[in-house]
Amino acid sequence: MAVQETPVSRRLKSVRHIIIVCSGKGGVGKSSVSVQLALSLHASSPTARVGILDVDLTGPSVPRMLGLDGHGVHQSSDGWVPVYADARADGEPRLACMSVGFLLKKKGDSVVWRGPKKNAMIRQFLSDVRWGELDYLVVDTPPGTSDEHLSLIEHLAPVQSRLSAVIVTTPQAVALLDAMKCLSFTRAVALPVLGLIENMSGYVCPCCGEISNVFSTGGGAEMARREGVPFLGSMPIDTDLVTLLDAAESTDQGATDGQQDEVSEVRSFGV
Ligand code: ADP
Repeated sequence: MAVQETPVSRRLKSVRHIIIVCSGKGGVGKSSVSVQLALSLHASSPTARVGILDVDLTGPSVPRMLGLDGHGVHQSSDGWVPVYADARADGEPRLACMSVGFLLKKKGDSVVWRGPKKNAMIRQFLSDVRWGELDYLVVDTPPGTSDEHLSLIEHLAPVQSRLSAVIVTTPQAVALLDAMKCLSFTRAVALPVLGLIENMSGYVCPCCGEISNVFSTGGGAEMARREGVPFLGSMPIDTDLVTLLDAAESTDQGATDGQQDEVSEVRSFGV
């Protein structure tokens, strides 16, 4: 049966892979992993084009982690222009970012929306943002399996063959239990799982480099083996990572001016 074209599938027709990053619990490092995944894919080749979409609508942290706090989204005749994390005078930018954080009037403003409004915002992110040609679009989602996940799956159905998920967990039993719920969700919606990442797996002593298992370790690998999904690796607690991600400074470069047609700042967005 032919897949029906939609505004989302038209907009994403030049996006090769869409990777949805999810976790059962908040605070396990899902946004940190999303950002590091996007940066690694960006660094994987001098021509790799990567997008990162933050649909953690009530707790957007991707702009801060990429040093893009304070940027606004601009409207062109062809849709919203993402903010580029690697905008430079020389060369085409290759790391595009979109987040509700760019639409808030003030840093610290909160988004208090019911499901239908969240759904409309996510549809707009997928259909109205000028993503252009991308090798990878990494999607950071809220913790758990919520309205946002269902909206994503619904709107991305026409491009389902290009979708996959990465599940992030920490080693504690409670986190693993919630990661299991996340895995059940991916199965229920037929979303292929690229693999599981165990974050905060041990603590690296900044003085001697020795690893201590603060929350135990190995539960993620064990769960992946039991459930037949790939284990992508573990990341220790690293105090440098906190410093780098939490203190990322805004480069304040604005959207890539060269790429805008007639631009006007989008602050009042009609969803
Ligand atoms: P989530 O998206 O799951 O809510 P975040 O990615 O926002 O979690 O991470 C929560 C906090 O933990 C952030 O301050 C982040 O810098 C920190 N963090 C995440 N992973 C690590 C790690 N491996 N080592 C040290 N700090 C980490």
